[in-house]
Amino acid sequence: MKKTKWAKLALAVVVAFSVANCEKDSEEVFEQNQIDHSKNAHACIAKWDLETGKAASIKDKEWETGQTIRVKFLNGSNFVQSKVRQYAVEWEEHANIKFEWVSSSSSANIKIAFNEGDYAGITGSWSYLGTDSNLEPHSMHFGWFNNNTSDTEFRRTTIHEFGHALGLIHEHQNPVAGINWDREAVYAYYAGAPNYWTKDQVDHNLFRRYETNVSNYSEYDPLSIMHYPIPAEHTLDGVAVGSNTRLSETDKAFIGRIYPFPDTSGDICDGVAAYNSNNSYSTGDQVTYQGSLYQRTATGWTNLGECGSVEEDVDPCAGVAAYNRFRSYATGDQVTYQGSLYQRTATGWTNLGPCN
Ligand SMILES: [Zn+2]
Repeated sequence: MKKTKWAKLALAVVVAFSVANCEKDSEEVFEQNQIDHSKNAHACIAKWDLETGKAASIKDKEWETGQTIRVKFLNGSNFVQSKVRQYAVEWEEHANIKFEWVSSSSSANIKIAFNEGDYAGITGSWSYLGTDSNLEPHSMHFGWFNNNTSDTEFRRTTIHEFGHALGLIHEHQNPVAGINWDREAVYAYYAGAPNYWTKDQVDHNLFRRYETNVSNYSEYDPLSIMHYPIPAEHTLDGVAVGSNTRLSETDKAFIGRIYPFPDTSGDICDGVAAYNSNNSYSTGDQVTYQGSLYQRTATGWTNLGECGSVEEDVDPCAGVAAYNRFRSYATGDQVTYQGSLYQRTATGWTNLGPCN
C-alpha cells in the first residue's frame, strides 16, 4: 500500500521536475536561495511535495538510531568543506547518529558537491531524503557556497540540507501546518520566471501536505530550520515566515525523538564511585569495577550487573533462592522474602530492596 502511494508520488514529482527542466527525481529536495526568495528565486525550486508543516520526517527513509553515517566531499575547497563540517555536526548534539567524514575516494552514504568543476551549473542546494542518499553518487549539493559566503548562510543551508539527509521534510509540508496561503498570489508568483509552474505544480510543491501516517511530525513550528521563508504577500493574513538560520527548540527535540539517545537516567552505576583499593568497605557498600556494579558482602563482592543497564532491567533477586526457614544461613547469604532481597548479617537480615 505504502509502496504504491510512494510510486504514484514519485511519478508525480518526476513530471513536475521534468517540466521544470531538472533531471533530478522525486527523492531530492531542491532549495532555492531562500535569501532571494521573494525577488529572484533560482530555477528548479521544486520542493519535496508533501506539505507537512513542522519538523516532519519520512519514516521509511530514516537511518538506524546510533548509526555512523559516512560523508564525503566530491569537490570543493578546504574552506567550504570545513564550513559544511562545522555546521552539519550540530545535528549530532541532538540526534543519536554520527557523521564520519571520509576521503573522496572512500565509499560514503552522503556525497556532497559544490557548484564547480564537474558539478558546475547544477542549480540550487538540495539533498536526497534520508537513506535515499545511499542510492545516489551525488546526494547533496550546495549551489551557492563559495569562499565569500557568510557564516550565517553556511549555517542555515548546511543544517537545513543535513536535516533532509536525516529524513526531515520541509516544515511548510507538515501535516499540521496551518499556513493561510493566498493561493492566487502564490500561483501568480510561481507562474513567472524562473519557475513557470502550472497551478498543479504549485499545488504539488507548496499546498499539498504529507499524510501523518508516512511522516514523523510534531506540532507546526514556523521557527524550524526546515521551514522555507514565506513572504507576507503569499498569505491571506499577512503572516510571513522569516529566514530561519538556527535549529529551533522543536527541531532539537524532534530529531532526538527520531534518533533517541539511550536513557541513562536509570543506570545502576549512576552516582556510584569506582572501587578504590585504598578504601575499606563494609557490607552493603557499592562500587563500580571494570564496568560492573558490585556490592560488598561479608565475604567478598557480589556482581549486581553491568553499568549502563537500567535498574528495571536488572533483577537483584535473579538467581537468589527464596527464604527457607528450615535452613541455616551464614552472614552474607542472600534470600528473597515477600518480594524483597535480604542479606544475612551477624545479627539478622538486611533488606537490600525489592525484586523486580
Ligand atoms: Zn529544503
